[in-house]
Amino acid sequence: MSLVTCSGFPRIGIKRELKRALESHWRGETDADALLDTARTLRKRHWRLMADAGADVVPCNDFSLYDHVLDTAVLFDVIPERYRPVFSENTLDGYFAMGRGHKRGGHDLHALEMTKWFDTNYHYLVPELSANQRFALNGDKPLAEYLEAQAEGHRARPVLLGPVSFLLLSKTVDGSDRLALLDALLMPYVDLLGRMADAGVDWVQLDEPCLVLDLDDDDRAAYRHAYTTLAAARSPHVLLASYFGALDANLALAVSLPVAGMHVDLVRAPAQLDAVLDALPAGWVLSAGVVDGRNIWRSHPDRVMPLLRKAHPRLGDERLWIAPSCSLLHTPIDLEPETSLDPPRRASMAFARQKIEELRVYADALAGQPEAEAALVAQQVLLDAQMQASGVADPAVRSRLRSLGAQASLRRSGYAARRAIQSQTVPLPLLPTTTIGSFPQTDDLRKARAAHRAGRLDDNAYEQLLKDEVERVVRFQEHIGLDVLVHGEPERNDMVEYFGEQLDGYLFTKLGWVQSYGSRCVKPPVIWGDIARQAPMTVAWSSYAQSLTGRPMKGMLTGPVTMLQWSFVRDDLPRETVCRQIALALRDEVRDLETAGLHVIQIDEPALREGLPLRRADWPVYLAWAVECFRITAGGVRDSTQIHTHMCYSEFNDIIEAVAAMDADVISIETSRSRMELLDAFVRYRYPNGIGPGVYDIHSPRVPDSAEMLDLLHKALDVLQPEQLWINPDCGLKTRDWPEVEQALGHMVATARQLRSTLAASVG
Ligand code: GLN
Ligand code: ZN
Repeated sequence: MSLVTCSGFPRIGIKRELKRALESHWRGETDADALLDTARTLRKRHWRLMADAGADVVPCNDFSLYDHVLDTAVLFDVIPERYRPVFSENTLDGYFAMGRGHKRGGHDLHALEMTKWFDTNYHYLVPELSANQRFALNGDKPLAEYLEAQAEGHRARPVLLGPVSFLLLSKTVDGSDRLALLDALLMPYVDLLGRMADAGVDWVQLDEPCLVLDLDDDDRAAYRHAYTTLAAARSPHVLLASYFGALDANLALAVSLPVAGMHVDLVRAPAQLDAVLDALPAGWVLSAGVVDGRNIWRSHPDRVMPLLRKAHPRLGDERLWIAPSCSLLHTPIDLEPETSLDPPRRASMAFARQKIEELRVYADALAGQPEAEAALVAQQVLLDAQMQASGVADPAVRSRLRSLGAQASLRRSGYAARRAIQSQTVPLPLLPTTTIGSFPQTDDLRKARAAHRAGRLDDNAYEQLLKDEVERVVRFQEHIGLDVLVHGEPERNDMVEYFGEQLDGYLFTKLGWVQSYGSRCVKPPVIWGDIARQAPMTVAWSSYAQSLTGRPMKGMLTGPVTMLQWSFVRDDLPRETVCRQIALALRDEVRDLETAGLHVIQIDEPALREGLPLRRADWPVYLAWAVECFRITAGGVRDSTQIHTHMCYSEFNDIIEAVAAMDADVISIETSRSRMELLDAFVRYRYPNGIGPGVYDIHSPRVPDSAEMLDLLHKALDVLQPEQLWINPDCGLKTRDWPEVEQALGHMVATARQLRSTLAASVG
């Protein structure tokens, strides 16, 4: 029978046990042994769970206390000098110093840079390399976890990030070439694989997710060299794993490597199966990733079985393995405790555990077991019935979307005309100042929200508390002299959840946690039906805030692309269709805000960039619909209404044209951490509309002084016109505390005034 395998499992624990253990260890409440105990218990529990669900082979070394890329760096001794003193005092402290910084015992170390793991919402730590980097095998984590699994009676497969992806995901701090380090890096790999072979490991999974990216000749040569070198040494059989997309142009490269099998993603890229089967060398194993490792829906047997039925006759039981599309790291663990979900809805969902159960059924059905075949028929019937269930398709939404003309995504006039009109409706000084939306979420606010949720604080008392907070935020902004005010968003728990809760088509889980980075988890809302808005969502708060002041108040919304990107999205409609539905619902909200007297409305799109496809050739299509959805949201208002947007997470240089195509009147954008690197884009491209490159890095407790802000603004004025420049922080202030915010915004307003008078003097 085909083996059911799994390429990785969530680490955090169903009740986020790892998070709690980590955080109590970091607070100094528990020692390392307690933490390592929890980790061992979780591994053991998860292996048991996978085996009971029907996995023949379980992964090991997929577990991590913080991040698997960080583990790989430490395993090969890629430890920057600054952390070495902490490591020599205590290895675990050193490891966490790299992951999250270290401020103790005379050390003051910042963490490694963190960035998104491909197009997921998981963040990995970027290893730092330099030209004379040395590598060595440091410890034996993969082997130790293999032996641990074996002792528990499991057949285990160690998972290890492959050498080429490891280098491509790293950065050099001295501008040298990462791939030049390949030979040196291969030595400890050879060492480790040899030890695995000695210990009786039969297969090792080398993850090479970079195989789904655009590769150049040097990258391809690195792959050939790396795997030829590894093949010459003693090693278990190597399963070369790619995921998150199609191998496409890299397929020929992958099958030319001297390994024993490969894993491919047939959920993101089912169409590659034919080419893969044709190219697969004789004797190779194919691990078919047929169940979505990145979403929470049950698989459709009528999509999966044809793939397996095509592969099976050509490969036979021995050479066809069945697996999730990628590591299950990106899904929650178990649906079982989600007892509050509507039963039929719940029956169409699968978390990590249920996904392995599904794989078991597929393997059994492939082997001709009648019960399994019947289960798949039943599953397909259930999913088909769910598609017809009420709420899945909303005829009004569908027909509105169908009749949506091109006109909907166009403002009535171009930017220049709007600008002239807005200077009447929203008169502002040169270099207007504003903020991104949220103000500090104090402990009192968080406690009140929790008490309200738990029913310990009644609606009226809670509302009064929020009103008081809005008033305080408004008075503060008036007092320090900001030009465009915000209400501070105290009523929002989370910028996606807040809207999801008020829209049809969304549902929420109790324990649907997914690791975002380190101990931090997110619980993405689930989009299961057509999105519709029953009633205004933000108008009451924004109008209340506007009623308190004569200055312009910004209405504040989360944009359609971000709503999509940070949710689990239904798999029966194209993502762009779901995004358009959200855009329509938000468009109505924007118009209601306008009618309610808000002349400035901000539509946040912090996640626009992270939705970019992994391959550049796919960028234009994505950017076209993402930009269009933003424009649909914004397009229904009069010229006199000033539309703002906000984006963070830097790196907009390569999509600046698309950002401009959004045609927001004003964009505020993160730049201060990169010392305004973004502005390089404006040397080659003249950004047309209003723009506020952030001058205050809100990710740090540091309060920048006026001189620093002035310096950033002068850089901005080298490439932007004074008339288009706005002055604002990098992002929302909710994670900061009041004293920092008071100081930083005080400096910001003072800087604006100073610069205004300098500019006036130079003109006059
Ligand atoms: N308006 C939001 C806030 O200020 C924007 C958050 C974000 O960019 N991630 O909190
Ligand atoms: Zn932001």
